[in-house]
Amino acid sequence: MSTSTLTLEQEFNPWEAQAARFDLAAQKLNLDEGIWKIMRYPSREIIVHIPVLMDSGKIEVFTGFRVQHSIARGPAKGGVRYAPDVTLDEVRALASWMTWKCAVVNIPFGGAKGGIICDPKKMSQTELERMTRRYTAELVEFIGPEKDVPAPDVNTNEQTMAWMMDTYSMHMRQTVTSVVTGKPLALGGSRGRREATGRGVMIVCDEAIRKLGLQRSSTRVVVQGFGNVGSYAAKLMCEAGYKIIGIAEIDGGLYNTNGIDINALFAHKERNRGIQGFSGAEPHDPKELLVADCEILIPAATEAVITSRNAERVKARILCEGANGPTTAAADEILADKKVFVVPDILANAGGVTTSYFEWVQDRQGFFWREDVVNEQLKDIMVGSFAEVVHYAETHQVNNRIAAYMLAIDRVGRTIKTRGIYA
Ligand code: NAD
Repeated sequence: MSTSTLTLEQEFNPWEAQAARFDLAAQKLNLDEGIWKIMRYPSREIIVHIPVLMDSGKIEVFTGFRVQHSIARGPAKGGVRYAPDVTLDEVRALASWMTWKCAVVNIPFGGAKGGIICDPKKMSQTELERMTRRYTAELVEFIGPEKDVPAPDVNTNEQTMAWMMDTYSMHMRQTVTSVVTGKPLALGGSRGRREATGRGVMIVCDEAIRKLGLQRSSTRVVVQGFGNVGSYAAKLMCEAGYKIIGIAEIDGGLYNTNGIDINALFAHKERNRGIQGFSGAEPHDPKELLVADCEILIPAATEAVITSRNAERVKARILCEGANGPTTAAADEILADKKVFVVPDILANAGGVTTSYFEWVQDRQGFFWREDVVNEQLKDIMVGSFAEVVHYAETHQVNNRIAAYMLAIDRVGRTIKTRGIYA
C-alpha cells in the first residue's frame, strides 16, 4: 500500500507503518515476488497467557507475545517490552524492524520482539519477577543462544534479563548467559551496553552534523524520552559539547535555551524518580518540544509521535530516531518535502543491538572486552553503516529511510535465496 493511501487509523498502526515502508523499498528493489511474500510476514508468532500469583494472594493472567520475524541471517534477536497498550501488531512491527536493523548494521542476527500486556508501574518487584519467570518458562523451547535472544526494551531492564537468564538456565540445568543480552555486568553483561543505544545515537548525530556542516557547540538538541535511550543520548551528547535545550517526558517537559546540565538532571531523576521539578530548566509542554526551534530532534520514547498532524511544524534540520517507529509513513513525505535529514530508527538506534551482539560474542567466548574496545567496535560499525545508508540514498535517489530498508531487504533477500526453500 502506498503511504499516501493510508487511513488515519492505519497511519498510527506500527505494523502498517512498517509494511508501508517495506512495500515501497521492495518495489524499488524490484524484489522477487516470492521473496517479498516470505519477508513481509513474521515466520512465527507465539501468544502466551501467563498466570501470576499476585502479592494480594489473587491470581492474575497476563497475555504475552513473542514474534520471530526472521532467522535467515542468524538467531532471532529483539527486546521484550512491558506496557498496558502492547498489541500483537506492535510486536510484529518491532520484530520486523529488528530484522532490518540487524541487516543494516550487518550483524549475524534475524529479528524478533516480545511483549507482555501489563502495567509494570502498578506491580511490585516480586510480581514482576514471577511474571517474567513464567513468561520465560512458556517460551523455553523457542528461545536460546542459537534460536532467539531477548533483550531489554521499554519498561524492562538488566534485572529483567537476569531473571530471564536464570529461569532459562534452571530449565537447561546449566548456566547459559548468552540466552539474553542487556544483563548486569556480573552475570555476563557487556561493558558499555547500558549506554550503547544512546552512544550510537550520538555517533550518527556526529556524522549527520558533519554532513550538514554544523558544529557540536552550536547544535541545539531536543530529546523526547528520558529512559535508557534518551537519557544516555542526552548525557553523552551534553558531555561532548552539544547544547541539549529540551527534554520531553510523558508527564511534562523541560526547556532551557542555554542548555540543560544533563548530569545534574540525572542526579535529580535519581533523587525524585522523575525529571519534574528540576531547577535547571523551565517546565514546558512536552508535545510542543517536538516542534521547538532546534537543529536535532531525537524522539527516544515511543511510536507514532511525528505524524501527519505535526510533521509540517517540525523545525529541526536533523531527525535522529532513538525510538523504534517514532515517525509515521505519512509524515515521511512531509519531512522529505521540508528537506529534514532523517537518520531512520533501523540505523539510528542500532547501537543497542550491535553491543548486544558483542555481549553474545563475549558470553560465548567466555572472554570479556574492555569498555574502550566495545565503544571502538561500536563506532566502527555505526560510522560505516551511516556512510553505507547515505551513499545508497544518494546513488538510488531515495530518502535515508527507504535506502536503509532497501539495503536491509536486499541483504536478507539474498540470504534467503542462497539458502533456498526447504521443502
Ligand atoms: P525506557 O522504558 O527506558 O524509557 C522510555 C522513556 O520514555 C520513559 O522515561 C517514559 O516515561 C518516556 N515516555 C513514554 N512515552 C512518552 C511520551 N509519549 N512522551 C514523552 N516521553 C515518553 O525505554 P527505552 O529502552 O529507552 O526505549 C525507548 C525507545 O527506544 C523504544 O522505542 C525502544 O523500542 C527503543 N530502543 C531501545 C533500545 C534499548 O537498548 N533500550 C534499543 C533500540 C531501540
